[in-house]
Amino acid sequence: MIPAADSNHQEKTGLGNYFVANYPPFSFWNKTTIGQVENLCLQSAPIDRPLGLYLHIPFCRKRCKFCYFRVYTDKNARDIEFYLDSLVREIQILSSYPYLAHRPLKFVYFGGGTPSFLSVNQIRSLVDRIKPLFSWDKAEEITFECEPGTLQQHKLEALRDMGITRLSLGIENFSDEILLSNGRAHLSEEIVRAYGWARDLGFPQINIDLIAGMVGETDVNWSHCIDKALALAPDSLTVYQMELPFNTVYSKELRLVGQDQPDTVGVADWPTKRRWMAECFDRFEKAGYTVTSATTVVKDPKSTQFVYRDALWQGADMMGTGVASFGHLGGIHVQNLDAWETYTQSISQNQAPWARAYSLSGQEQFVRESILLLKKGRLSGKEFQERHGKIPAREFGSTFQEWERRGLGNLLGNDFILSREGLIQIDRWLPELFLPEHKNYTRYT
Ligand code: SF4
Repeated sequence: MIPAADSNHQEKTGLGNYFVANYPPFSFWNKTTIGQVENLCLQSAPIDRPLGLYLHIPFCRKRCKFCYFRVYTDKNARDIEFYLDSLVREIQILSSYPYLAHRPLKFVYFGGGTPSFLSVNQIRSLVDRIKPLFSWDKAEEITFECEPGTLQQHKLEALRDMGITRLSLGIENFSDEILLSNGRAHLSEEIVRAYGWARDLGFPQINIDLIAGMVGETDVNWSHCIDKALALAPDSLTVYQMELPFNTVYSKELRLVGQDQPDTVGVADWPTKRRWMAECFDRFEKAGYTVTSATTVVKDPKSTQFVYRDALWQGADMMGTGVASFGHLGGIHVQNLDAWETYTQSISQNQAPWARAYSLSGQEQFVRESILLLKKGRLSGKEFQERHGKIPAREFGSTFQEWERRGLGNLLGNDFILSREGLIQIDRWLPELFLPEHKNYTRYT
């Protein structure tokens, strides 16, 4: 257990998760709450709650040394077919519940892993089998994550023809040396080629991902990365700061040599990563982009939305399908079984593969939404009043006053607005908003 105060004041990149992905923390989710998910799914569908679908494609060409996701690099074509059959069967099982049946999808997200690892035939077969179960003809956004080295022109053409609206390219860095030493499967030449094809094919939105602070990163190289990202002129750019969760190759290497100070493997400290983030944001702003969250800049905020993120952060329902996936239904978090065998076995027995869940109280939903929406830089009192009947600026009044004193943001009437400095490091401070019973939490689960 890591006391919140320790994690808040840590400036070296220590082992463990730094970013707050959800609330309450995963270590509070449990098996006994699954019964509540089952009960919910037997009820009739809500009238006005949007529904999304996340599909986890857990295959990659290589395992990046910083990766902590459930991915497999050793599966053959038959294994992949078997997994995709299980995934479709899982969605069939979900479609049979009254709570979910016949609801149209607002958004679809193919994540991973590497969805673009699949062949065109595999993707097409998957899509053809899912669409009759859940209509996505009126979906506002269909995202597909890609690793540049897995793309060919004909695959991108097929994705566009299948209706993918948002292509997300995991570039991470433009230096071949850094890509190679961090275990990435692609090289810079493949980035430029894949991006060019995608642009020419006219996808409505292309996002690119970078990571600030990959092992071996330097001021000069980071500046080159920003140059190259600007030259691509993506619709949006997402920048992550490198963290070192426990189950990565890097963290295992560190533990093998009995160390817990990752600067020995060349991970920059947090102030350096924040400086790189600030440089990136500043330079994109000068090029006409707008900062829309702690990790995102977009070229045109009016036309470039991120429906998946915004809907989920405001409590939409989402079926998280695939091994180890996370979902959210009717105010209940739920995660699937996280091992290949147990996940596929559960489905072969016609059972939803749920492993653990957490049912949020009204207060927990309010705190969750405050925490997640703070990552967009502003909490609007009016919007929270309408949705929750209370205002974060009042509920967290003393904490926000303290944040004001630290230069992290400002209270403006009923709104709280983060400064740029506050936005870039917001995950460091979010645990201060947790309810007392969640303040001592396990950073890795
Ligand atoms: S490509 Fe993404 S999911 Fe695959 S190993 Fe690398 S970081 Fe993990």
